[in-house]
Parts: sequence; C-alpha cells; structure tokens
Amino acid sequence: KYSEMSLQELEAEKEQLFSQYKDWQRKGLKLDMSRGKPSTEQLNLSMPLLDILDGKSLMKCMNGVETRNYGQLEGIVEAQHLMAEIMDCQPEQVIVGGNSSLNLMFDAVARGYMFGFGGCTPWCKLERVRWLCPVPGYDRHFAITQHFGFDMINVPMNEDGPDMDVVEGLVAADDSIKGIWCVPKYSNPQGIVYSDEVVRRMANLKPAAKDFRVFWDNAYAVHHLYKEKKKILNILHECEEADNPDLVFEFASTSKITFAGAGIAAIACNHRNREELKKTLTVQTIGFDKVNMIRHARYFADVESVDKHMEKHAKILRPKFELVIKTMERDLAEPECGSWISPKGGYFITFEAPKGTATRIVDLAKEAGVVLTPAGAPFPYHMDPNDSIIRFAPSLPPIEELEQAADVFTVCARIAYVEKLIN
Ligand code: PLP
Repeated sequence: KYSEMSLQELEAEKEQLFSQYKDWQRKGLKLDMSRGKPSTEQLNLSMPLLDILDGKSLMKCMNGVETRNYGQLEGIVEAQHLMAEIMDCQPEQVIVGGNSSLNLMFDAVARGYMFGFGGCTPWCKLERVRWLCPVPGYDRHFAITQHFGFDMINVPMNEDGPDMDVVEGLVAADDSIKGIWCVPKYSNPQGIVYSDEVVRRMANLKPAAKDFRVFWDNAYAVHHLYKEKKKILNILHECEEADNPDLVFEFASTSKITFAGAGIAAIACNHRNREELKKTLTVQTIGFDKVNMIRHARYFADVESVDKHMEKHAKILRPKFELVIKTMERDLAEPECGSWISPKGGYFITFEAPKGTATRIVDLAKEAGVVLTPAGAPFPYHMDPNDSIIRFAPSLPPIEELEQAADVFTVCARIAYVEKLIN
C-alpha cells in the first residue's frame, strides 16, 4: 500500500517503476485508447445490412409510403417501431431522424434557444441560462451547452445516478436552470445504471422553470456486456404518471448497434412536445433518409433480432473490458492506487486516480506512446475539480494492443501516485 510506505521505500519504488516505464518507451508504441468507436470486427457484424436491399427490393413500407420519395416527416412506421423497442416507449412517441442522436439533441437545444418551449421566452432572450451536468459525463453534451453559452453546473454522480437531492434543490430554486443531461443506462463514462428511485425522482421534479427539460440520452439502452440485461424505468411513462408529461425528451440511435454515424437516430416525447417540435422540423426538412430506415427495420424485423445482434457485439467487447479491469486489479489494487467501476454495459471504463494525478498520468502515457482521453474531458469546460477522472475506451484497439496499453497505463498511474506521495 503506497500511502503507508516510507519516503525511502517510495523512492525505491519510483526508480523501479521508471525503469519499467523506460522499457515501454523503448518499444516505440503507437496506441490509441481515447475514442469510443466500434472496432472493425464490430462494424463487420452489420455488413448484411447492406445486402438487405437490392435492385429488386420492394421499397414501399407497411403503410404504403414510398421510401425513395419525399415525405413521412416522422419516419417510417417500421422504424418508429424499431426505435420504440430500443427505447422502451410507444412507437407513436417516436420521431425517427437522420444518422445522429447528437444532432437531434443539438437541434432540441437550439429550438429552446431560438423559439422557446411551451410558449415560454426563447432562451436566447434571457439574461442567462443554466444547465445541470452530472459529472463525469459525455463531453459532447457539455460541448453543446457550452456552445450556446449556458452556464454549466456540475452535479455529482452517485452509484445509481445523479445526486437527486442536489438536482431537486437546484431546479426548484432557480428558474434560469433549463435542462439536465442524462445518460440513464450504462452511462458515459461510468457505466452507471439509474435506479428506479432516481428515474422516479427525475420524473417528479418540480422545476421553477416551466420550460425546464430533461435530456434523456438513452444511447446505450441495449448495449449489455453480460447476460443480465439491466432495466430502467420508462421515463416517458413515469413523467405521465407524475403529471409532468412535458418534462422529457428521450434520444437514442443505432450508431453503436449498426454503423457509427450511418445508423438511424430518434427522439421520443409526449404529444404536445412532439407537435411543437414538428412545427420547426417541417421547415427544416422534407423528411429524413427513409431508405436507411427501411434497411434497418428489415434487418431487425423480429423482436429478438436486436438482442441477438447485441450479444455478438458483447462477445467482442467483453474480453476487452475484462482485460483492462483485470490489469487494473492486478497492478493497482494492492498499492491502493485509485479505483474503478466494472461496467455491465456501454462503451467506457472510468478510472478514478488519486486526486491531482490524472493529468500527469495522461501525459506519462502519451510520452510512452499511449493516447488516452485528455484528463478533464468528461467535465464541463474540461475542468475536473479533482484532476482524478480518466475515461478509457477499450472498444477500438485490437486486444493485443489493448493489453500493452493497459500495462503502460497502470505503470503510469503508479508513477503519478508515488510522485504525489513523495512531493
Ligand atoms: N450519446 C452518448 C452518451 C454517446 O456516448 C454517443 C457517442 O459516443 C452519442 C450520444 C453519439 O450518438 P450519435 O452517433 O447517435 O450521434
């Protein structure tokens, strides 16, 4: 245990760790663990999607809509059903958009900003707009709210979701708070699954702002790593029950089911929000890519097919996650150097380094040829108040590379901690 070592022991440990580190440096590695992208092997799983349609395919969908032509703003019925199944909501609540859920989220924020929600003042006309950001979280969420110039407020994450005492207190007290980012299942980056209590409390919020909205990004709804498929409550239903039906926009996509950036994305909400949304959407576009929608809907025609497909992803991803976790356990448990959560789904592993060492670890790793996500990235303004969170993305590199990267990482983590204790 490093914290109980004498200065002399620490110096000796540092020397020994640096000699290991230099051995790694000499290997001239070039490894990247920074991006949460699917691997080529995973992308190959969806190649049959490209053969579903050929020159002879029937291009009309269930209700007779021609997918090759303009129209059907809300997306084809089959795709609404598919996305509703993934999001665990009703097909009529779903609008299927283009290729990116992030794009739909940006547009939803932009509508609040330009036109306002429910007859309230557009956010662009307000002195200030504030936004709740459970941390650590998804950097691109925070980039959106930063881009619009909103003040972002960190909300701590507990093991079962955002700290709802903090959320409830803040939204009730301040009508400049207009939204919250949530990734309710296998969250980015911690892999946290929101408990029923957290979902219910979210649905029962009593915000001072009538135009406050929960941005429920269910990006990893079906991305289980294990047989046990974690379930969360249906937020749209809970909001109805709580007499708060306008509170939430839910999002999802098939980016990490089929092709990243070339799948289909969806937004789900209640009738009122949906009618308001369509007033803008109908000006924005005549309709999204229905050919891609029908391709997806036909590929995932039966109910079990998404599950079966995701099991294939899990088979590829599981050994990668387990390798990183095992390496951390092997090298970092005994010296009590940091902590980590072993996720049951999603795309990331979060390492919580001893305070004040994350930046140093990322720098050390870089000098040894291993690129990690920059320290601070999962926080608004890239500012981690404790300089301790590191996000790992094990999906992309082949397992042999991942093994080396994880070995380098643990050496760097130990060096940074030993240095901190010495100073
Ligand atoms: N939401 C979360 C939480 C993500 O982690 C990601 C991608 O990493 C996205 C959304 C991006 O989704 P899309 O490709 O549908 O824009």
